Amino acid sequence: MKKEFREMLKERGRTEMPKVLLAAAECAPLSKTGGLADVVGTLPQDLAKLGIDARVITPYHKVIKDKYRDKVEHLFDFEVLLGWVKEYVGIERLEVNGITVYLVDNEKYFGDKIYRGGEPEGQQYMYFCRAVIEAVPLLGFDPDVIHCNDWHTSIIPMLAHTQYIGSMQDSIKYLLTIHNIAFQGKFGFDFVHGLLGIDPGYYTYEYLEHNGCANFLKAGCVFSDRINTVSPSYAGEIRTPYYAEGLDGILNARGAVLTGIINGIDKVAFNPHSDPSLPARYDRGHLKGKAKCKAELQAKMGLEQRPDVPLVAMVTRMTEQKGFDLVAYILDELMNTEDIQFMLLGTGDARFEDFMRGAESRFPGRLCAYLGYSEELSHLVYAGSDFFLMPSRFEPCGLSQMIAMRYGSLPIVRETGGLKDTVMPYNKYTGEGTGFSFANYNAHEMLDAIRKALECYKDEETMQGLIGNAMKEDFGFERSALDYARHYIWML
Ligand code: ADP
Repeated sequence: MKKEFREMLKERGRTEMPKVLLAAAECAPLSKTGGLADVVGTLPQDLAKLGIDARVITPYHKVIKDKYRDKVEHLFDFEVLLGWVKEYVGIERLEVNGITVYLVDNEKYFGDKIYRGGEPEGQQYMYFCRAVIEAVPLLGFDPDVIHCNDWHTSIIPMLAHTQYIGSMQDSIKYLLTIHNIAFQGKFGFDFVHGLLGIDPGYYTYEYLEHNGCANFLKAGCVFSDRINTVSPSYAGEIRTPYYAEGLDGILNARGAVLTGIINGIDKVAFNPHSDPSLPARYDRGHLKGKAKCKAELQAKMGLEQRPDVPLVAMVTRMTEQKGFDLVAYILDELMNTEDIQFMLLGTGDARFEDFMRGAESRFPGRLCAYLGYSEELSHLVYAGSDFFLMPSRFEPCGLSQMIAMRYGSLPIVRETGGLKDTVMPYNKYTGEGTGFSFANYNAHEMLDAIRKALECYKDEETMQGLIGNAMKEDFGFERSALDYARHYIWML
């Protein structure tokens, strides 16, 4: 055990690391729609290396059943009350990457989509939260901390502290991680009361009510022992009205226990030295392979075969969150005034997709828009590009900029959330930096930042220095696991 942890534990009169149960709607590689799944799937593995027994409890979604039916072990089953209806809860166990995952089985709730949307989704996850809290004393694994993630599990601490007073669930500590504050789980109180039997006395502004709705994420913020989000900058931003989606009041009130822990990336899956989807491999000291990747990307995407031209790329959801309106605003000006190539891999809003189709026909051989989702192509884009554009309006953490740096594609980002925390802007006096950045959500500020990057491209020594700096950065999950471990111990 690390000395730091031993001392922290000693102060709390303990010798053993805390036991943790992560509750989440999805868990990679079993079920995944976004970054949440990666965190839930990876974090317990790195916590195990620190001596923390962290297990996961997640719905037994159809996608999991289809693939792992023969591998799961049925532990036990019981019934819970949801409103006036008794519902079956099966608890199955599966070992994944050395981690114990408990699966909550009920096909009525998890027999099709991971997220059904609207009130059906509310039903799915109210059932899940009730099942989790009832299952905890039966697991034979007594967690010190339950780590809730996003609104789908954020009502658990409230249930524990209002409906299970004096029980083991009440004495457990709760950490809430906010992966995206845009989704809060807002429902009419009658609906929530009908299913979870929450005392109307808690439907007030101090607890569950927010703008006339029962707001699950808010309840999580009120009743959890600690709250974190996925980057330090975003933790500060969500205390302001612009970013908080209405929750700045409660997040300021709980400011003393609100922190940011940056996510990591999978260093094995994203490794230019061993990536099987690349035509040539490379590392920091040997960049020849990167030039081959660029040539291959140009050939594949119908771009002119020119090793000398700077290639700016994006791999993104094409939405306003990702700053796509800024890109649309200056793209023609950029292409008309600079000798560059532009490559986009993404899907999203129809208006942005249409715009990119038009741009492709205006700049043949220089601009390519691949409107689709392709994991394999994304690796080639990271490897084959010189610069990676990510001008997000808000960004809780962001993984793409970290992947880009690992592949030696220098990020050009807006200074917000995790982008601000992970990309160090180039300093022309010291040569330090891992990318380029701009502060305000303004298309011409972004254009200036791109031009600064293009200026550097002209000087090979500067570029080599920056690529070296970027590829040297360590964005593995180990750092995040250390921080989460500290948080768990603080709560004991
Ligand atoms: P977000 O989760 O908000 O979309 P992140 O930067 O955290 O943004 O993660 C996005 C991940 O999805 C990255 O791994 C990125 O490479 C991948 N990705 C996004 N769009 C595509 C696409 N069209 N094809 C392949 N991968 C994509």
